[in-house]
Amino acid sequence: MVIGEMTQDVDLVVVGGGPGGYTAALRAAELGIKTVLVEAMPKPGGVCLHMGCIPSKALLHAAEVIETSKHAASFGVHFEAPKLDVDALRSWKQGVTDKLAQGIVGMCKSAGVEIIRGRATFQDSRNLRVEGDNESPSSRIKFKHAILATGSRPVKLRGMDFESDRLLDSTSALSLADVPKKLLVVGGGYIGLEMGSVYAALGSEVTVVEMTDGLLPGVDRDLVRPLATALAGKFKAIYLSTKVTALKEEKNGLTASFEGKDAPASENFDKVLVAVGRRPNSDGIGLENTQVTVDAHGFAVVDEQCRTSDKRILAIGDVSGQPMLAHRAMRQGMVAAEVLAGRSSAFDNRAIPAVVFTEPEVAWCGITETDAKAGGIEVAAAKFPWSASGRAMTLAEPVGQTKVLFDPQTTRVLGVGIVGPRAGDLIAEAVLAIEMGAVLEDLVVTIHAHPTLAETLMEASTAALSRLERQAARAAEKEKTRA
Ligand code: FAD
Ligand code: NAD
Repeated sequence: MVIGEMTQDVDLVVVGGGPGGYTAALRAAELGIKTVLVEAMPKPGGVCLHMGCIPSKALLHAAEVIETSKHAASFGVHFEAPKLDVDALRSWKQGVTDKLAQGIVGMCKSAGVEIIRGRATFQDSRNLRVEGDNESPSSRIKFKHAILATGSRPVKLRGMDFESDRLLDSTSALSLADVPKKLLVVGGGYIGLEMGSVYAALGSEVTVVEMTDGLLPGVDRDLVRPLATALAGKFKAIYLSTKVTALKEEKNGLTASFEGKDAPASENFDKVLVAVGRRPNSDGIGLENTQVTVDAHGFAVVDEQCRTSDKRILAIGDVSGQPMLAHRAMRQGMVAAEVLAGRSSAFDNRAIPAVVFTEPEVAWCGITETDAKAGGIEVAAAKFPWSASGRAMTLAEPVGQTKVLFDPQTTRVLGVGIVGPRAGDLIAEAVLAIEMGAVLEDLVVTIHAHPTLAETLMEASTAALSRLERQAARAAEKEKTRA
């Protein structure tokens, strides 16, 4: 123990002030638990607020405005080519995150949650040490319970992990130092496609390299197809089933060597963004001094109540497993706090929405056709193309599809996939439908405002129900004839 270090005795310490951590801390305080929140960064908000969801969506909004201004000519509205002020865009984005961070600080203050700045390390299952810096002294915390919410960080690829201003990860890509003329994006997943879209709209010539044979692996192909077509028009090249085998820094940029059927042997780029996944922050925080079990991928193993195998420690968010999404972290934060307050709360949600905020957006929840096929689960699908949606036509963006997957016996809604503008907002109704155990008829008889894109969920369900009714009528007719 370092002499002079203060020790605080608390009911609950939350380690990590991201969306999982601050949600848990606020809910715990609300339920009467004395809570402190330890965060290593100067401001709370985590990856989501400072280098993830929020800054990327701010930049994607700018990209959408640029793209929309280009397409407006198709309905007779002409804009001049956009003039880009990168400094102003960067400060606007920063302003958004600063305001939101201030909001979290304010909420913690009014809830009585003390924020301690520093890096926490578990000494054992009851104590942790917080390593301070110039602005905050180091201290020790004795806790009854801890919630681990330390999040995740980008995966680094061997041979692509050297220090260079030209080599970006999602954090440096979001800092928007400049707009490179030629950008290589390694990884055709969430970050690769979202950030690739941003830089393409800002004027970069973007090349995407994806190791598997399709963008967004795991997502239903009929949802990805319209996005892949749109991106083919925006990106210079998309190389599938391709790997970057070497990356070499040269005077004029980074030269990447490729191995893949359509890719050139090598090409020079001004900058390279590596976005090949994230790994949990479960190492270097003293978990070996506790009873917490960590799996082969580095995730803290938790049960439905977010409890780890250490009875005093719970874990939530990215550090506790897939999918690594902010809204999952937030829901788990609520659950963990309620469990500690003695409530019968569980992370037993049936559907976790996923949204890729590209143009068009892709969103899904519940079961996917890919999952159903792999798991031998019988599902029926109803699809509604947006070319038949009045609202999509008025937006001059009729490319899209809404797909409802349901149990063919009971018509219970099991999954929904949507591709099209604002799919990320539309998926909310589908999540609620699945949580409430809705059947197709519930979506059909619910009045949807007209004309809206939300109607496509009702239309897809109506089409499915009509099809089932026709099938039933035909079967009854056959039965009658046989009799
Ligand atoms: P984090 O947000 O990672 O927060 C963990 C916090 O813990 C950090 O602030 C960190 O500083 C702190 N910490 C770590 N170790 C310690 C320690 N030892 N002591 C003290 N503090 C510590 N998800 C979505 O749902 N929607 C999106 O649109 C979206 N976009 C994204 C875009 C990008 C570019 C990226 C990278 C991610 C995106 N995500 C998105 C994922 C989302 O950011 C994460 O799922 C979410 O932030 C996880 O929340 P968390 O609370 O588990 O951890
Ligand atoms: P990802 O898992 O979404 O995509 C990584 C992609 O890289 C995959 O398609 C994978 O096949 C590919 N890949 C892996 N190794 C490769 C290699 N050597 N060469 C070429 N391609 C390779 O990961 P991400 O894009 O880094 O994002 C990380 C996580 O952050 C996501 O899984 C998601 O949980 C979260 N996120 C969410 C959002 C959102 O909700 N809109 C946005 C960004 C990030």
